[in-house]
Amino acid sequence: MSVFRSSRFSRLEPYVPGEQPRERTYIKLNTNESPYPPSPAVLQAVRRASETLNLYCDPTALRLRQAAARVYGVEPEAVLPVNGSDEILNFAVMAFCDGRIPIACPEITYGFYPVLAALHGVKLRQVPLRADLTVDHRDFLSQNCTVMIANPNAPTGLALSLSEIEEIVRSNEKNVVVIDEAYVDFGAESAVALTKKYRNLLVTRTFSKSHSLAGARLGFGIADPGLIADLAAVKDSTNPYNVNAMTQAAGIAALEDNGFYMENCRRVAATRDETATALRAMGFELTASVSNFLFARHPAIPGEELYAKLRERGILVRHFSTPSIADYVRITVGSPREMQALVEALREILA
Ligand SMILES: *Cc1c(COP(=O)(O)O)cnc(C)c1O
Repeated sequence: MSVFRSSRFSRLEPYVPGEQPRERTYIKLNTNESPYPPSPAVLQAVRRASETLNLYCDPTALRLRQAAARVYGVEPEAVLPVNGSDEILNFAVMAFCDGRIPIACPEITYGFYPVLAALHGVKLRQVPLRADLTVDHRDFLSQNCTVMIANPNAPTGLALSLSEIEEIVRSNEKNVVVIDEAYVDFGAESAVALTKKYRNLLVTRTFSKSHSLAGARLGFGIADPGLIADLAAVKDSTNPYNVNAMTQAAGIAALEDNGFYMENCRRVAATRDETATALRAMGFELTASVSNFLFARHPAIPGEELYAKLRERGILVRHFSTPSIADYVRITVGSPREMQALVEALREILA
């Protein structure tokens, strides 16, 4: 029992991030970071920005919004840069949900959504997945809720089609639909273009997975300028300088180098598919992931044991104890060499 914490927050159940161990070096396949470093232009931009850290950064992040607008084919007023996409999810719950407007999301999805709902006292409707772990988009039509869907979904790696997303957005015109595209660059269809057609669609992006900037904390909300203005009002009421100067510079340089990162995403996708083939040959069952991670189970070993045995061998993956997916482990796609080490460790464990 806390001594000073407000009763409003007395029962918080905070999000538990994947381990970031410091005691030894692991092959880190547990938090979906990119195995590739930022491009040289990004490193140089960060160095240059660090020289004027005595000054506040641009609270409107204008140049960053312009750079993002060019890449995503929208207006700068349709973009809100944020301190990691977790921040825009928080802003969205603050701006668009309350005691009367709950959240609807898949039952198995990104673990931050229930945390945010609880933080803000918003009810959460968790919709079960189909037996094959896919989302049935018909479950999300005409809800009186803010709809929140990760596409591709986590930790399954499975995506809805753009036409299914559009049906959801069209049928919920009185409510906001949040499409969390953290993993879209690894093989799914983006809904960003639909933000020009529908005023109720918010697409969120992160540079943590696809653009090698997890430690810099950078994400974006992309939506109709009206929706972005609502989110910016919340942002300016909590943290006007939410994206620091070095991260703004890194983001601009990364967007100017977008081709470099899309090529990295293609490499990760190729490594993913090769690794999936190797795991299937060893008896693993996998979802048809279009993300930068694999979701795998083996009939001979429970997920938790697999996690522990890999850890002993210096390889970190993620295990979730939720009963319906407890057989599985989520494996981030690393470099080809890291995945080779994973396959060898799994052969040993299964032998
Ligand atoms: C990683 C992840 C995020 C958060 O990314 P940050 O930008 O690092 O905060 C959001 N949604 C999903 C589905 C994720 O997997």
